[in-house]
Amino acid sequence: MKKLLFFIPILFIFSCANDKLQQIENKKLNSLAVDYVKLGLTIGQYDGDFVDAYYGPDSLKPKTELLPHNFPKDSLLATANSIMNDLRQIAHASKIDTNRMRANWMADQLIAFSRRIRIFSGEERPFDEESIELFGVAAPVYTDDFFKSRLALLDSILPGKGNVNDRFQKLANKFIIPKDKLDPVIKAAIAEARKRTLAHYKLPAGETFTLEYVTNKPWSGYNWYKGGYKSTVQINTDLKVFIDRAIDVGSHESYPGHHVYNMLLEKNLYHDKGWVEISLYPLFSPQSLIAEGSANYGIEVAFPGNDKINFAKNVLLPLAGLDTAGAALYFKALAIKGTLNYARNEAARGLINNTMSKDKALSYLRKYCLMNDETAQKSLSFIKKYRSYVINYNYGQDLVKNYIESNGGTAGNAAKRWELFGKLLSQEVEPVNLVKK
Ligand SMILES: [Zn+2]
Repeated sequence: MKKLLFFIPILFIFSCANDKLQQIENKKLNSLAVDYVKLGLTIGQYDGDFVDAYYGPDSLKPKTELLPHNFPKDSLLATANSIMNDLRQIAHASKIDTNRMRANWMADQLIAFSRRIRIFSGEERPFDEESIELFGVAAPVYTDDFFKSRLALLDSILPGKGNVNDRFQKLANKFIIPKDKLDPVIKAAIAEARKRTLAHYKLPAGETFTLEYVTNKPWSGYNWYKGGYKSTVQINTDLKVFIDRAIDVGSHESYPGHHVYNMLLEKNLYHDKGWVEISLYPLFSPQSLIAEGSANYGIEVAFPGNDKINFAKNVLLPLAGLDTAGAALYFKALAIKGTLNYARNEAARGLINNTMSKDKALSYLRKYCLMNDETAQKSLSFIKKYRSYVINYNYGQDLVKNYIESNGGTAGNAAKRWELFGKLLSQEVEPVNLVKK
């Protein structure tokens, strides 16, 4: 008993010292997080694509006047480097897991800041070097033989004979949503995805989104997160919108994709923990690999197995006034086409590494991604603007999927899958930690 009493004060002193240490570290991290946000917002003054979302205090916005022709590359790089060094020191010395993780996450994001500053100044690197610095990983290379084997599989299930792409387009064209039906169909898909998400997550009160139809964009859909649990979801109507796009918009852009991801970060990290760095979402950063990867995998989480086909057949196609004949085959073909998405990485890799001409890339996208002419052209303008960002959709999705399913979130265990998915959306995740060692 005496011995125990003797130890209590020591333990008390020890735990006080630990608390004190944590307080000092937190203070340092919070101050570096402010510098990180200020730097990101300053870069965003020049590079219009840099800041995807910001909902933090106005006091962190740049006060200096913008001189568009005088991009301060060297001073921005020096600031990024200095914040990064301070963060790595904390990550190296800290005994607290959360602090180490937080410091490393911000430091990795700053590597991406530096790379984007250089790209914005016209200083380019090969595709894989760029993606490692911007998004934390390099995507695997797939050869033409892989794509050919997937096309052979499609050849065996599509009706008719001849060119696989023509036959796929013939099937797909049965499922174009008429323009006057677009709004009710998209809204029905979002409502269903939201209902399915709410069955597993408690979302912040007052969460909402607005839906807009736009033209002349290099992307097909976009979620602009506004903070305060609100998003604006935009759908590009330049191109024909197929029935599966409605489910993609409902899940990828909205529930449990981008809208939910941003809300969970804002609620759990910004408001509950006071981590100011999360109020800035820099588009060209490792955060985007998690964002796009989880948004794409989120479609499968919300509509597992045959749910997509059944929902399209029972609800969306009748709502669009379209015949349901061939829908099951169309979705089966889409699942195979999905694995061909890696061919877009190869087109982007070829264009950025100057090993593929524009014409070659166009025919490559048509042949291996089964794109129609207008989608291939659109894809080219996307690659020109977003470059190695393309890997976030397919490799990001595979990394998220492998992480969740190898930890028990399999198709047969929906509750576990939603639980792990929600945890992933509520943390600062370094993509490299999702790569199997
Ligand atoms: Zn997205």
